[in-house]
Amino acid sequence: MLKKKARRMAAAMMAGILTCSLTAVPVKADSISETEQRGKELQKQKEAAENEKSSLASQLNQVISDMQETEKKLTEKQDEIKKAQDELVQAQIQENDQYEAMKLRIKYMYENGNASLLEILFSAKSMGDLLNKAEYVQSISEYDRNMLEKYEKLTKEIEEKEAALEKEEEELKTLQNDLIAKRNSVNQLLAEKEVQISSLEDQIGANAAKLQELIKEAEEAKRRQEEAAAAKRAAEEAARKAALAAQQAASSSGSSSGSGSSSAGNSHVSGNGSLAYPVASPRITSGYGYRTAPTAGATSRHDGIDFGGATGTPIYASAAGTVVTAAYNSARGNYVVINHGNGLQTWYQHCSAVYVSVGQKVSKGQNIAAIGSTGIVTGPHLHYEVHVNGTPVNPLNYL
Ligand SMILES: [Zn+2]
Repeated sequence: MLKKKARRMAAAMMAGILTCSLTAVPVKADSISETEQRGKELQKQKEAAENEKSSLASQLNQVISDMQETEKKLTEKQDEIKKAQDELVQAQIQENDQYEAMKLRIKYMYENGNASLLEILFSAKSMGDLLNKAEYVQSISEYDRNMLEKYEKLTKEIEEKEAALEKEEEELKTLQNDLIAKRNSVNQLLAEKEVQISSLEDQIGANAAKLQELIKEAEEAKRRQEEAAAAKRAAEEAARKAALAAQQAASSSGSSSGSGSSSAGNSHVSGNGSLAYPVASPRITSGYGYRTAPTAGATSRHDGIDFGGATGTPIYASAAGTVVTAAYNSARGNYVVINHGNGLQTWYQHCSAVYVSVGQKVSKGQNIAAIGSTGIVTGPHLHYEVHVNGTPVNPLNYL
């Protein structure tokens, strides 16, 4: 038994907490526009990053195309070097052949009696050395000398050419290495840009989700507000109907007026004059004419009569007519003036609610307002005036 009760209480508390948390969520209209603004900024940042990325991509393409160009040049250079090396080998072979042939001829000359030549030949450290020494040897033929010089010169030229080619190859390799470094750095920048774009896309997604959530909350808040307003209207309508029903019941049970009014809505209408009492159970709390002011103690003229009644008590039109004023005034509070024609007007003041508007036609006995305490009053009551040609008169002469 106790357990059950405790559980029910807990459930009620939970419901309370849920209701509170629902109503406590503040939905600011400007947080929606802020989020929209943030979304636009993120989109702009993403576009900028995409532009930088495409610029980097075209830089990378340029670097790769430069690398291909350099690679092609390197291949060509290496072909040239290989060709030069072949030429050099050929030249060295020719040079060597010439040297060998010359040595044979020198040997032949020695065998025919020239000893000093052989000495030179075998003491020479290289062909160049031999040539220097042979310069002083008249016996070496002009032919051999010329041929040796020619081949030596050719070999030297090819060697120089090869060296120049190798130097060019080195330069190309340096260029290629620079290009590789550049490619790597552009690739790195591109990867970073990808990360940045991906992060921006995440932020854009999260922001869009937040925006959707805020819009949903705003719609929810608006819906709750509309529901509350509708409930309030329904409650007011029900209260009015209940008051009217109570009014009808009261007047039908105690009807002694004999005014001949048969309509249910007008059944409260009483009195012998041309005007009906503006309230169902008239209870005059202050009469017309000179009286002692309740606060200041001085006498003042009272332009109407006061009917006592609780706030919300219905006020009825004394006769058919047209509403000429339905307004608020700091002294009169909410008040209504109905023009009945022929210079006759009725005034209803200090109302808690007014149900008619200016220009509206009203019928005798129509519920036009409710007793209240708006304006300068000491408590709720209806201050009722009758005007003839713009001048207040004693209402009792017309009721
Ligand atoms: Zn009064």
